[in-house]
Amino acid sequence: MKLKLFDVGNDEAPFVEKWANYNNIEVDYVRNSLTRENISEVFGYDGICVSHNGPFDNSLFKDLKNMGIKQIAQRSAGFDMYDLEQATKNNIKITNVPSYSPNSIAEYAIMGALYFVRKVPTVQHYVAKQDFRWQPPIMARPIKGLTVAVIGTGRIGYITAELFYHMGCNVIGYDIQPNPKAEKFITYKDTVEEAVKDADIVTVHTPATTDNIMMFNDKLFSHFKDSAIFINCARGILVNTKALINALDSRKLSGAVIDTYENEATYFRKDFRDKQIEDDLLKSLMERDDVLLSPHIAFYTNESVKNLVECSLNSTKAIIQKGNSEFVVNK
Ligand code: NAD
Repeated sequence: MKLKLFDVGNDEAPFVEKWANYNNIEVDYVRNSLTRENISEVFGYDGICVSHNGPFDNSLFKDLKNMGIKQIAQRSAGFDMYDLEQATKNNIKITNVPSYSPNSIAEYAIMGALYFVRKVPTVQHYVAKQDFRWQPPIMARPIKGLTVAVIGTGRIGYITAELFYHMGCNVIGYDIQPNPKAEKFITYKDTVEEAVKDADIVTVHTPATTDNIMMFNDKLFSHFKDSAIFINCARGILVNTKALINALDSRKLSGAVIDTYENEATYFRKDFRDKQIEDDLLKSLMERDDVLLSPHIAFYTNESVKNLVECSLNSTKAIIQKGNSEFVVNK
């Protein structure tokens, strides 16, 4: 068996090599993405594994089929870049990695909450001015006893709620399908408005669906308790960024942890050091002390990268050897 990986970064390469050695399978990898220009590179391989980040050229399925390829293993949870019907028509099975380290994202949400609860940006501001006095602006409060609303209590939201609960927080939840297992530490509310209204911290962990695009808008922020902390490590499109900035300006929110941003595809994962950023919304998020902005890295730990590589390569191997994998998304 011979496998070809595309989109492989320096962070993934050691895990790819380890998997290849352990499984005694020949694996080659390149940094480039699979496109019409380089599709001939797939010739001679039995399976492919990619980490496609933008639109995929779905006309490539036919060429892959003609080369004897039966699968594409996508190294992410999201697979919306593929036309699944076209893939199925060409006998190509697409696999994803639905969960690779929910703890990593949950821990990031906790870190973001503590960052604002313990007034880290204000402390840094005073230290930068060489003002080391103990004084009211940097006096914080413990997270223990605060009320946290977790919106979406699936794989990641469940662990986030559990971690906040173990720190002594009062955890409120909202989910269209409440998780009975979580009821020992989450008090569920019937509406998102009820869930957020008494919360000191609101953290969102739902997928983006046609029903909840920009659910965090001016109206929903108006239901928040004054000076709440808001965390979005889920999907950028869940939040109307203009409304978020209004809520920060009016001190409805005292801080926001923004790991996913509505227009992130143009910027996140790219090097803009020598380029102009045209996006005024992004620029204003970057400039604010009351926003902790990050480029969709809540998941980004060695555990996640390892699991993404191993799970996708295991799926590739399973499809080639047995014709199927539990992670096929176009069944
Ligand atoms: P999941 O499917 O396990 O859980 C999602 C939960 O949200 C489910 O319980 C579902 O019932 C609930 N839900 C769906 N629509 C809802 C709505 N409109 N209102 C309330 N609840 C709703 O998903 P997961 O694996 O926990 O992922 C959660 C989010 O985290 C996703 O948006 C995912 O894309 C994102 N994510 C982010 C990163 C990162 O690095 N920032 C990494 C991985 C996943």
